[in-house]
Amino acid sequence: MLDLKQENKMGNLFKSKCYLWAIVFIWFVLGNILACKHKKNNHNFILVSLDTTRIDRLSLYGNERPVSPNIVELAKKGLVFDQAVTVTENTLISHASLLTGLYPAAHGTTYEENGTPLNQAYHTIAEDFLSTGHYQTAGFTAHGTWLNKKFNIDQGFQVFKSGFRSADVVLKEVEEWMIQMRDPTKPYFLFIHLFDPHSDRDGRPYQAPKPFFGRWTSNYKGKYHNWDEVNPNGSLFLTASNRDKISLNDEDIRHIRDQYDEGLAYTDNRICRFLNKYVNFEDTFVIITSDHGEEFKEHEYMLHSSLYDQVVRIPLIIIPPNRMQKKYNAHRRIKEQVRIVDIRPTILSMASLPEAQLCQGKNLNPWLIGDVYECPAGPAPIYHLALRWDGYKLYIKKYKYYFFNLRKDPEEKVNLIDQTKFSDCINNMKNILSQYAQEDKRIRENIEYLNENNKLIRTEEELKKLRSLGYIK
Ligand SMILES: [Zn+2]
Repeated sequence: MLDLKQENKMGNLFKSKCYLWAIVFIWFVLGNILACKHKKNNHNFILVSLDTTRIDRLSLYGNERPVSPNIVELAKKGLVFDQAVTVTENTLISHASLLTGLYPAAHGTTYEENGTPLNQAYHTIAEDFLSTGHYQTAGFTAHGTWLNKKFNIDQGFQVFKSGFRSADVVLKEVEEWMIQMRDPTKPYFLFIHLFDPHSDRDGRPYQAPKPFFGRWTSNYKGKYHNWDEVNPNGSLFLTASNRDKISLNDEDIRHIRDQYDEGLAYTDNRICRFLNKYVNFEDTFVIITSDHGEEFKEHEYMLHSSLYDQVVRIPLIIIPPNRMQKKYNAHRRIKEQVRIVDIRPTILSMASLPEAQLCQGKNLNPWLIGDVYECPAGPAPIYHLALRWDGYKLYIKKYKYYFFNLRKDPEEKVNLIDQTKFSDCINNMKNILSQYAQEDKRIRENIEYLNENNKLIRTEEELKKLRSLGYIK
C-alpha cells in the first residue's frame, strides 16, 4: 500500500501529466484549427478570361473538331458549367461585371467615345484579395483601350499590364511575374485576359499564327481567301456584312468560322501550356471563362452583335486544387444556369474571405460542395434587353419582343411571344427584368459618381483602334 505522502506525490505526478496532456491536446487542436485556417486562406487563384470564346466551338462543349484538346484535358479535374451566361456582348462591360459581380446598369461602365470608367467606389475581386494583406495580386490583359487603367480595370492589382498583344506576349509577361516578381511565400490572385479568339487582333478576322493558321482553312478557294486584298480590317469587314454591305455565302461564312477555330486552337494551346508549366495544382484554383461568344450569321449577324445564345452563353470551368477534388466532387458537368456575376462571390467563398460587398451575384460555393441543395443563382438578365431563366428566354430586339423555349429550340428560331399558353411565363419574365432594372438604378444612385477630373480622355490612337474594331464610328 502506498502511504499518504507517496499517494500525494503520485497524485501530483498524475495531475501534472494530465495538465501536460491537456496542454498538448489544446496545442494540437488549436494548431490544427490555425493550420486549417491558414491553409484555406492560402490557396492561389487564377482567373482566366478568353475573350470572344463561343461555347459550342470548344471541344469541351460539343465541337467535334479538336479545337481545344488541352482545355478538355484540364477540365477532367474540374467542374464544367454547361449553362453559364454573361451580361452583355461587350468586352469592357462584361469584364467590369466579372470583376465586381454587378450588372452593367449597376456598375455603369460604358465604352462609347466618351465612355465611363468603372467607378472606383465599387469593389473588384482584386481589391478583395489585396485587402486581406497577405495576397499578392496581378492582372494582365490583352485589350489596350478598354481593359486598362483609364477604365479603372486595374483596381486592386499590385501589378497590372495591358495593351493589344498576342497570347504569347501576355503569357511571357505573366511568366516573368511568376518567376521574378512574385513572392513565393505568399498566395496570389492572378487575372489573365487573352484576346486571340477575337477578330482583328492583327487586322484580319481571327488571324492565328502558324502552325494554327491554315489548319482548317487551307482548302477554301472563295473570294475571301486573301484578306490583304479584300479588306485589311477584319472587324469592320464583318460588321459591314451585318449591314448587308458585303455579301457572304455559306462557304465564306464557314471559312471565317474555320479561321475563328484556328484562333481558339492557338489560345487553347498557349493558356494550357502556361498553366501546366507554372501552376501548382496542389493548392491553386483555376477558373476559365469568357466575356461573350461570337456569331456567324446564325441569325442576321457576324461578330458579337446580338444577345442570342451564340453570344451570351460563355464557358465556365472551375478546377479546384488536387487535394480538394473530392470535396468538390470534381470531374462533373453542371446543368444549372449560373451567371458571370456569380464568379466573384464564389471565388471569395472558396478563399474563405468575407462576403463580397456591393455585389449582385450569388455565392455558389456552398452549393458546389453540397452544403445546400438548390443552386442559388437566379434568372440571368442581359442588359435590360433579355432574360434567360428556367429554360426560356425573353429578348427585346429592335423594340420587338421575342420568346424562345431553349429546351426545344436551342437555336432560337421560333418566336413564341404570341402563344397564350406562355403568357404568364412571359409576364413574369418581364416583371423580373423590370425588378432588375430598379435594383440596378438603386445601386447606381447610392454610389458617388466620378468627379469631373476622372472623366475619360482618349488619344487619337485609341479612338482609331476602337474604330478598327468596329465598336465606335
Ligand atoms: Zn470581348
